[in-house]
Amino acid sequence: MINKTRITGLLFAILTSYSSHLWANDEKPFSIAIHGGAGTISKANLSDEQEQAYRDKLSQAINAGYKVLEKGGDSLVAIQAAINVMENSPLFNAGVGAVYTFDGQHEMDASIMDGQTMNAGAVAGVKHIKNPINLAEAVMTKSPHVMLSGAGAEEFALTQGFQLVPVTHFDTEKRYEQLIDAKKKIKTAEAAKDYQAANHMMGRDYLDLDYKFGTVGAVALDQNGNLAAGTSTGGMTAKRFGRIGDSPVIGAGTYAENGVCAVSATGHGEYFIRYHVAGDICAKVKYQQKSIIQAADEVINQRLITAGGTGGVIAIDQRGNIATPFNTEGMYRATRKSGEEAQVMIWRDK
Ligand code: ASP
Repeated sequence: MINKTRITGLLFAILTSYSSHLWANDEKPFSIAIHGGAGTISKANLSDEQEQAYRDKLSQAINAGYKVLEKGGDSLVAIQAAINVMENSPLFNAGVGAVYTFDGQHEMDASIMDGQTMNAGAVAGVKHIKNPINLAEAVMTKSPHVMLSGAGAEEFALTQGFQLVPVTHFDTEKRYEQLIDAKKKIKTAEAAKDYQAANHMMGRDYLDLDYKFGTVGAVALDQNGNLAAGTSTGGMTAKRFGRIGDSPVIGAGTYAENGVCAVSATGHGEYFIRYHVAGDICAKVKYQQKSIIQAADEVINQRLITAGGTGGVIAIDQRGNIATPFNTEGMYRATRKSGEEAQVMIWRDK
């Protein structure tokens, strides 16, 4: 009798622990992916110390987001936590370390999307906001609008308790040197009346040759099955006053829809806008039942390559599967799935 009770008890314990194991690992998967920009990141141009600094910061960012998800937190909170780490680091082209415009200013863009409600918020051309992704979130949750730009966005920020920081907050020597360099090359091309080359130099094609970028972004699936995506950037070096890239454009640089996928992009924004990159990837998943890996690969490594657009994305589906395709030499990125260690990568293989 005693034995029977014991055995039943034991069986019960085993079953409960098995089902809670199932619940934790199979029923409520969560994952997060981040990027810190795609471009010409050649091993030769990155010293061991620089490489380590990028890897450390990417680890810190992915773990900041993962911690939120692990505790049962919201995917929207997780992506902001990860993006804030990168916005506060001079290594990336977002927040501190944002690139310079042609006129020597910083004009930052950011957007965020909530896959559960299909709400979205974005800011474009802001100059005094320390963490533009947080302002994008405020636009989404505290305003009737999706996108606010320039002075209007900053005036809204003040009503929401944001403190404006001086423009010098975003200055870094490295980005300034890149601007001087870019302007020299533009001038040379213009002097040679090579307008096509000069145009190229205004854009990503020229920059791809010499620089790494560093737009930042994150996508996440939380334990409640909610997807979210966010992107934050200084844009492209030597961009003209008022130029807005893909990062704040919902469907181009950022997209999230529960049951489908969430995407954050980095690359030559003009192409990402015209090819509707983030939305196109999710449409393939939604209407053609393609896997996230296949959908993201088709857009980045087929459609964009044919068009001449460079860059990459991080994408996540409803089950927490992650794709990180890019058609450049490298893309700073990291992923972490529930119960697993973080993976930090720069090049194709490591
Ligand atoms: N997509 C950004 C832009 O065009 C730049 C980048 O991702 O590096 O503004």
